[in-house]
Amino acid sequence: MRCRGCGYSLWNVPGRTCPECGRGFRPSEFRFKPNAVEFCCAGCGQQYYGTDQDGLPQPRAFACVRCGGACELDSMVLRAAPGVDDADVAADEVPWADRARIGWWKAYRGTVGMALSRPVAVGKALADRSESGAAMRFVLVNGAISFGPTALGVLAVVVGVMVFDRSSSGYGGGMVWSSATAAGWAVVWIALLSLGLGLGAAVLAGIAWCTIRVTGGRAGWSRVWCACAYGTAPYVLLAVPFLGPYCLGWAAGIWTLVATGIVLAAATREASWRIVAAMVAPVVLVGVLVAAAVSIVVMTTGGLPSPAPVPVTAPADADPGTDPVGAGAVDASAAPDAGGAP
Ligand SMILES: [Zn+2]
Ligand SMILES: [Zn+2]
Repeated sequence: MRCRGCGYSLWNVPGRTCPECGRGFRPSEFRFKPNAVEFCCAGCGQQYYGTDQDGLPQPRAFACVRCGGACELDSMVLRAAPGVDDADVAADEVPWADRARIGWWKAYRGTVGMALSRPVAVGKALADRSESGAAMRFVLVNGAISFGPTALGVLAVVVGVMVFDRSSSGYGGGMVWSSATAAGWAVVWIALLSLGLGLGAAVLAGIAWCTIRVTGGRAGWSRVWCACAYGTAPYVLLAVPFLGPYCLGWAAGIWTLVATGIVLAAATREASWRIVAAMVAPVVLVGVLVAAAVSIVVMTTGGLPSPAPVPVTAPADADPGTDPVGAGAVDASAAPDAGGAP
């Protein structure tokens, strides 16, 4: 347990401020591995283990078995349990936050696995520490890994077809694209797809955050954004070339919404109904926008034929008044001219 201001060790500190920098702290702000920390009665020093899933004593307040005094979590003195190394005390973190030490690939795999199997743990870790920049990098990497294989596959097919075209039409089978051009296209394509995933997560986070705030919630932006970013982990299903995007897109999308909701709930501790609203609102909004776009398209395509009948009736109206001769010969397209000329 280290001070969040200066990193000073807060073991065996009876006061509630950091001896080094003076920053206040409460044991309930921390999470530990279960049974890794001893909580000692402030009156007599009797130890109790932190046994619940956050490594804290359960119940939080009780009467000391030795001295009978009131023990309350935030009044107790903490230290690592006997035989537990100081470095092994901390509860789960999102592995991505540790990528500088363990390497980005291991951190990526660990984070995806954690988000798929233990989204609550991801949310709790984000409640402790949510870094928007790291979350953004995770989405972009996730987008590249999820969409990359199919993008490369499609590109390979395109290049293959072009080579085949050339060889079959007698140009000698030379590569149409140099390998550098093909690689360039691959990079651009994958970058656009991964930016697309990032944009999608940002839109989801924006609408979810607005929904939470409008309904009276207090969740901060960075936690909501991080939850939506790490919630995109199920998109890794799309990494199966070709099959993924065409068969698993819906599954990945729905799983992402569910996982994001669970992470968000644990990260922000907002009421369940507000979390559900925050996840449903983007779907409804996107549905409404799609419906609006479709109806606009229908209206404009439905509106296109309507100018045609107008000239047909226009000559009929114009004929009796102005031009009795040309009516039979003049087409509908020429009618506006006939009307405008005299
Ligand atoms: Zn400090
Ligand atoms: Zn006691």
